[in-house]
Amino acid sequence: MAKIYIGTDSGATTTKISAVDETGAPVARDVLQKPTRTAEGQSAVIEGWIAAIDEFLATHGRSWADVAGAGLAIPGPYLSYGVMDRSANFPPVFAGWNVFADFSRALAGRAGQEIPLVVGNDGNFGGIAEAHGARGGGKMSVLMLMPGSGLGCAFIDAEGRPLDGDTLAGMESGHAPAPLHLLGWTKKPLPCGCGRDWGCVEAYTTIAGLPHLLEEMLPGFPDHELATSAASAKEKALSLRTRAQQGDPLACAIFDFQARAMGLHVASLAMTLDPGIVIIGGGLMDHEATTPAFRENYLRLVRETAMPYLWPKQRENLKVLPAVLGDLSQAIGAAMAARFGHRG
Ligand SMILES: [Zn+2]
Repeated sequence: MAKIYIGTDSGATTTKISAVDETGAPVARDVLQKPTRTAEGQSAVIEGWIAAIDEFLATHGRSWADVAGAGLAIPGPYLSYGVMDRSANFPPVFAGWNVFADFSRALAGRAGQEIPLVVGNDGNFGGIAEAHGARGGGKMSVLMLMPGSGLGCAFIDAEGRPLDGDTLAGMESGHAPAPLHLLGWTKKPLPCGCGRDWGCVEAYTTIAGLPHLLEEMLPGFPDHELATSAASAKEKALSLRTRAQQGDPLACAIFDFQARAMGLHVASLAMTLDPGIVIIGGGLMDHEATTPAFRENYLRLVRETAMPYLWPKQRENLKVLPAVLGDLSQAIGAAMAARFGHRG
């Protein structure tokens, strides 16, 4: 039987398993989801991943003898290749864990042979899968931006490989400075969880910065319900996405601002990376959370804002597309990365 490549996407709470065949096509439509046994420690996490792969293989009539490689997507930051640093959602004891070495050993033990393993940044691996679909058979490079609680970013070259950098921190572009003068921002730059004080793009484009944007814009809407609401700043901010779907003028103004900030970021990155396709993912592109009109408006504003800053050929060619795989992209991308044998 043809060989397959397994993708394991481990967040702090959920692990997803997927696989692709030798042509890069997914082996199954769905991914298998299991809890990540983070609270039980590193050995339990590895055991859980192996058991989940066992189950995935059995479900799809495959065996370990078919597995030609494995990819693991895991959140950063990292101390070095496959070694976790202190990560926001994992217990502190996981810092310094050589997950590459331990998972490689466990895979070999279960399969009875070495299984080549690649480890990567979950956002970059998600980008591999989305880029594969977006470019079709073409040879275009893809910039992916995923505004969520933070700003996930990836750049996938025309061969399908992500830009990882030396410590897998490549493309952490959410923490690059935003051109605040072009956003009409005259106050101090917004703070960012990373500690940088230069006005990180993430603060102007994601949930992380929403409470600040709301505080900034609310005085312009004195009759708005949120002006007198007793809800916490976080609750108010989290209500904005739903309000925007109903045409709430304050919420729409805030997301329009975020889209323009994102458009400037796209243009800024285009000066360095020159992508043919920009994919926007994250919760704002989630079909269950936003309306087609909201998504179209956001993508249009990103494109319109970027345009004046691009080179003429880029203006003609650049496509701005929504992501389509949602939260399955990282497991599929991990399997695709295993197929490339990509090592950061
Ligand atoms: Zn930052």
